[in-house]
This record gives sequence, C-alpha cells and structure tokens, in this order.
Amino acid sequence: MNAPASWHERAAALGIDGRAVIEGERRDAVSGESFEKRSPIDSRVLAPVARGAAADIDAAVKSARAAFEDRRWAGKAPAARKKILQRFAEKILAAKDELALLETLDMGKPIRYSLAVDVPSTARCIAWYAEAVDKIYDEIAPTPSNALALITREPMGVVGAIVPWNYPMIMASWKLGPALAAGNSVVLKPSEKSPFTALRLAELAVEAGLPPGVFNVVPGYGGEAGEALALHMDVDAIGFTGSTRTGRRMLEYASRSNLKRVYNELGGKSAFVVFPDFADLERAATTVAGAMFFNQGESCNAPSRVLVHESVADAFVAIVAREAPQYAPADPLDAGTVMGAIVDAPQLRTVMGYIAEGKAEGARCVSGGQQVRAETGGYYVEPTVFDGVANGMKIAREEIFGPVIAIVRFKDEAEAIRMANASAYGLQASVWSDNLNRAHRVARALRAGTVHVNQYDEDDITVPFGGYKQSGNGRDKSLHAFDKYTELKTTWVRIDPA
Ligand code: NAD
Repeated sequence: MNAPASWHERAAALGIDGRAVIEGERRDAVSGESFEKRSPIDSRVLAPVARGAAADIDAAVKSARAAFEDRRWAGKAPAARKKILQRFAEKILAAKDELALLETLDMGKPIRYSLAVDVPSTARCIAWYAEAVDKIYDEIAPTPSNALALITREPMGVVGAIVPWNYPMIMASWKLGPALAAGNSVVLKPSEKSPFTALRLAELAVEAGLPPGVFNVVPGYGGEAGEALALHMDVDAIGFTGSTRTGRRMLEYASRSNLKRVYNELGGKSAFVVFPDFADLERAATTVAGAMFFNQGESCNAPSRVLVHESVADAFVAIVAREAPQYAPADPLDAGTVMGAIVDAPQLRTVMGYIAEGKAEGARCVSGGQQVRAETGGYYVEPTVFDGVANGMKIAREEIFGPVIAIVRFKDEAEAIRMANASAYGLQASVWSDNLNRAHRVARALRAGTVHVNQYDEDDITVPFGGYKQSGNGRDKSLHAFDKYTELKTTWVRIDPA
C-alpha cells in the first residue's frame, strides 16, 4: 500500500476554482476581472478569484429572487428541505480533506484544526438546522371564540450573507443553516481573503439537490461586491459577521437603500476574570492560553483581556508564560502544528503594531512578541503575553485579532466587574470562581452575550452566539437564529356564529 500523500503533495495537486457560483454554474466576473489570491503560509499563488462587483451581485440576487418567487425551494415541505440539507451536510463531510486543505491554504490555520474543527462544525451546523426545521410548530393566539388568529413564520426572501476570513466555512454555515432551512434564497459574499471553501460549498449544495439559484456565491472585495450586496434594493436581510467598523456601514447601507434587516455579529474584547477562590489556577491559566492562541488569536470571542486578582496574578502569569511557547507557530500543513499563519501582511502589521504599542505604553512582554518564520514568505507571530497591563491601555481596549494576551490585575470583585464591563464590546466573558454565589453574581453582572463559568469555549450549536453593545445584534446558532431569517405573520380569521 502506498503511504498517503503529505498535505504538501496534496496541496500541489489541488485544482482551485475561484469563479463565482450563480444559478448552479461557475461564472467569471461580468467585468472579466480577477485578483490573485496568495496563501499566508508562504505567499504561494493559489488561484485567480473572480472580482465580483455590482453586476455580478445583481445577477446573483436576480437568480436568488427568481428561485424564491417560483417557490422551487421555499415551496417544498420542511421535511423535503431537511433531506436535501442533510445530504449537503454529508457531502461536506465526504469532501473533508479537500475543504480542510482549501481553508488552511487560504487563511493559514493548521490543517489539524481545519480537519477536526472547521469541516465537522460546518456539516454539523447545516445538519442541525435541517433536522430542526420539520419540528418547529407555529402558534395560535388566545383570541375570543369568534376569531382564529394564526401566528406563522415565513421565509424573508433573499438573504445576503457577508462573512469574514477567520472561520470562513463555519461563519458561512451559521448564516446558511437557518436561512436555507427556513426556505430563503441566499447570496453569500465570502471575504476576499478566504473565498475558496464558500465556492466549493455552493457546488456541493447543488450536488446535494439544492435547486440552482437558491444559494449563490459571489467572491470579491468588501467595498465592491460587499457594498453592492448590502445596498441592493431586492435583498431582504443581511446576515453580517465581521468588524464593528464594517458593521456600522451595514446599517448605513440599509438606511440608504431599502431598510433591509441587518444582523451584525461583530468584534470582541472578551474578559476572562480569575478570582483567588478558584483553586485550580493551573487549569484557568492553561485554558486561557489554549483559547487565546487557538486560530492564531484570530477569534472574535478570544479571551484577550485577562483580569486576575492581584493575590494570584504572579503565579497565573508564570503559568501562561510557560505555556505560550508550546503554541509556537509552525508549518500549517504539518499535521502536528497547533498555530499557523496570520491571514495576510496587513493583519501581521496590525498585530505587530499592537505589540509595539503595548511595550510603548509600559506593559511588560513576558513571552513572545516577535515575528517569526519570515524566511517562509508567510506571516507568523509568536504567542505573546503581556503582564502589567492597565485596563485603559490600547492593548486592553482594542481588538487585536492576533495571538496576544493582556493581563490586568484587580483588587476586588467590584473592580473586576467594573473593568470587565468597561469595554465598547460585549461578545463573551468568563468567570473563574469556586464560590457558587460569586460565580452566579458575577456572571449576571457581566454585559456579554455569553458568559463562561470555570471553562472557556465549551459551547455548541444548541446555544445562541452573539454580542451585547458594539459586538452586534441578533444571534447566530440555536433555534433563535431562525428569528433573523423569518418574518412573523398574523392571519386573523373571523368565525361567525351559526
Ligand atoms: P471585515 O469587517 O473587514 O470584513 C468582513 C466582511 O465584510 C468581508 O467579507 C469583507 O469583504 C466585507 N466588507 C468589508 N468592507 C466592506 C464594505 N465597506 N461593504 C461591504 N462589505 C464589506 O472583518 P474581517 O477582518 O474579515 O473579520 C474580522 C472581524 O470579524 C473581527 O472584528 C472579528 O471579531 C469579527 N468576527 C465576529 C464574529 C461574531 O460572531 N461576532 C465571528 C467571527 C469574526
């Protein structure tokens, strides 16, 4: 038997198609233009990508609208939609190696996590909404006996999905799962930094039996394809995940166009609060390193602001500093690698800029802090830990989106809560305490969409994900996500007496 090909050999043999998928077909951009997509692993050229713009978005929206209006998808029984979406999830799993490789080449995460996390989570999300959709009942209102009032959910129509590059497939699936299961048509605009898996997903969906036009993907730049989609007069809702800066623009686009619904899932600066009564300091410290350095720190919910009680801070910092080098970046195509490449040169500059800023503001860098592996042509940063951070410093306030932990010390519970909530963001938070009363008290006081208690990251598709404050509105995941992609209709029927 031949030894399986290495990921490098498979990468060299991989054919990558960067054309849009509209009406179930591959298409070049109407303008004929494309851009060159390079890998952050080593700057290798991956493939030309269609440079979608207003004309391509218009074609995709027209195709999606026609599919919606003739009810080729929305008109199917929920159980029939379920079957097709389940097949879609199976096809994703069957294409596991190809999708994982595309994701790793495109945005730099380690192949082991593309395989173990991104592909299965994407399939699970699609399957979960497929399974849910024929088990949801509508309502009958408690009206007087001369009326029957039905409260029903209907698909909205054409949903535009605009997603980022940090978890390209998973973020797409969080929109696609509920939007498609509910009967909508979707036009997806992936990030220009990570377009390839989204395009393959569209092909797999058609192979699974999703009627052409129901799910179209147009790659392109945010200011071109993204803006055209968010401004389009025939798009009913935008499911957006990305930066708070772009989220603001989504609201502007809606107000300048057709007041389409806008659901924003934005940035974060999640607080990780460690009290001295949590006995297992080792577990808290190793957990923060694992959660923060996963995905190169490019996670919206990364626990990047670590608040530690002053009495245990030295011991805590020592453990995190000891752990950090174990996440040293290495070749993302090596199955043993746990930290890969930063997505591109501008993001690398941003991360290194924040590290320099942290030092300039007087924080102490106790581990990492350097760019490494530059000789590969890729973009790699050491896992970095800052101690002695003040909550007002830039590295404690702003989302860095890189492998940088900022450790801030606090004196008492009231100060910890005040500091944790002193943020424009409110995506997630975490409290570590063996005192039941304190754990609940603090969890209630923290202004965040998810509060983790004595763990981090242990959530799944069954619970909502989203933020308070400038981390967004609306929720991805769980049955609550259906709220975003359905309209509530009241049908009031008069019943005359005999
Ligand atoms: P980004 O805002 O730069 O881009 C996100 C998407 O919006 C991309 O597809 C991009 O092309 C598009 N876009 C950019 N400018 C646009 C414009 N003017 N008009 C229309 N579309 C435009 O964000 P990013 O750098 O890709 O992603 C990182 C951000 O995403 C971080 O802030 C992170 O916290 C956030 N994020 C949030 C969640 C969540 O669930 N809350 C999950 C993942 C990532």
